[in-house]
Amino acid sequence: MTVTASPRSVQLPETKLLIGGAFVDAASGATFATRNPATEEVIAQVAQAARADADRAVKAARRALEEGPWGKMRASERARILVRFADAIRKHQDEIVAVESLDGGKPIASVRRQDYPAALDCIEYYAGWPDKITGDVVPVRPDAHTYVARVPVGVVAAIVPWNFPLMNSMWKIAPALACGCTMVLKPASETPLTALLLGRLALEAGVPEGVLNILPGPGVDAGMSLVRNPDVDKISFTGSPPVGKAIMEAAAPFITRLTLELGGKSPNLIFDDADIDAAVKGSAAGIFFNAGQVCSAGSRVLVQKPIYDEFCERMIERSKTIVVGDPQDEKTYMGPIISQKQLDTITGYIDAGKREGANLRVGGERVARKGYFLPPTVFTEVENSMKIAREEIFGPVAAVIRFKDEDEAVRIANDSPFSLAAGLWTKDIGRAHSLANRLHAGTVWVNTYGQSDTRLPWGGLGGDSGMGRDLGETALDNYTDKKTIWISLRR
Ligand code: NAD
Repeated sequence: MTVTASPRSVQLPETKLLIGGAFVDAASGATFATRNPATEEVIAQVAQAARADADRAVKAARRALEEGPWGKMRASERARILVRFADAIRKHQDEIVAVESLDGGKPIASVRRQDYPAALDCIEYYAGWPDKITGDVVPVRPDAHTYVARVPVGVVAAIVPWNFPLMNSMWKIAPALACGCTMVLKPASETPLTALLLGRLALEAGVPEGVLNILPGPGVDAGMSLVRNPDVDKISFTGSPPVGKAIMEAAAPFITRLTLELGGKSPNLIFDDADIDAAVKGSAAGIFFNAGQVCSAGSRVLVQKPIYDEFCERMIERSKTIVVGDPQDEKTYMGPIISQKQLDTITGYIDAGKREGANLRVGGERVARKGYFLPPTVFTEVENSMKIAREEIFGPVAAVIRFKDEDEAVRIANDSPFSLAAGLWTKDIGRAHSLANRLHAGTVWVNTYGQSDTRLPWGGLGGDSGMGRDLGETALDNYTDKKTIWISLRR
């Protein structure tokens, strides 16, 4: 682990709420501080939305849907506006990358290499969709013309977490706008700035006022006010399982449509015939990328007995080479944890791992410097029944578990309340396909870990990983509904 330092100045974006095409103060006048987790310093005071603002934003979105130009324009015109939005994002690349890195403490090199291109790709992909969302003519009988049209669901409330603020915001905004919906997006309180920046760029690109509203504020207040607003037609949530469950419950009286992208405790299986160099490298990246604050982090590393000891030694050696430090330094691989609260949660899990008898082999102690830094941490001799193997830690903590054979590997892997992703490393093609089928996960990686693409659906197979899919053509189902039209041809 190498610790680096030195801040860099960044031009800050808007800090007010975006409602109905204008940046405004919260009705209460309240603000909250967003901090740089690498320095613990306040970056900016941001307007703090509450119920009154949520209600205003939903009204603005409804008006834009029903009275504004958005609902009346040609699909091809909507597509052109989204292309201009993508162009604005490309033009402001440096600003977006800098703000994303500063607000979330994300290493600037990985934001430039991963988050930014993924967000841009997402808007470019969905900008191609508006005039290709078609319906079906279904021939039922000769005296009727019967068809199924796809219509926008309407006003969408999107609530996103802090670990990929730019990307997760775009995963909601792009398909929803492509489908002709309007949106109120609530970013996480820890990372409101890139969402506000996207709001400004959307306006500049010609997205009509009220189509995209951005509402920073606390979950329990701004977030819940959106969920409980009966005028919201769809809730698209990415975040933790407990909040997902609370949202489902709160939305029940209105039977609001829901997509829930929740947590993970993903198993990553290393077989004794795997390319061990590649498996060590991929598994370390699988858990330490973004300091383990990744829903699909490969946090349970399952290793076959004959190679267990060698794999553990090499994983530990690799962990020690990871550069932890100032996110503004191009060489940094791992930045800080997002907040003191999250750091406390993670260290609580590390204590639990030690108490339960797992072997802490590297890391585990906060780095002695300003900022919420924790080094790569590896536990070996972990049992799948231990707390560190069952619960989502959301930090750079690998739990390495031993297994005997394929059946035991699948049993351990599937023995979890989560179902988001899984990895497996083997040279046996038959085993790869067979296990891809048997592993209970929305995404299975073979001889790689962590890849995703705009064109491929992303989400869990139920339980604490949630339901529904972001991305791909599938996400269009989140933001459209089907309408049956029956025209009598009798005369
Ligand atoms: P979180 O659930 O605490 O917060 C997520 C969002 O919900 C934030 O905007 C927050 O302000 C809001 N919120 C909090 N309480 C709320 C409430 N009562 N009502 C309405 N909104 C509320 O999650 P987090 O700590 O920001 O993010 C980490 C979690 O997100 C992890 O569990 C991670 O696995 C999950 N995640 C999942 C995916 C995925 O694609 N499946 C992607 C990224 C993160």
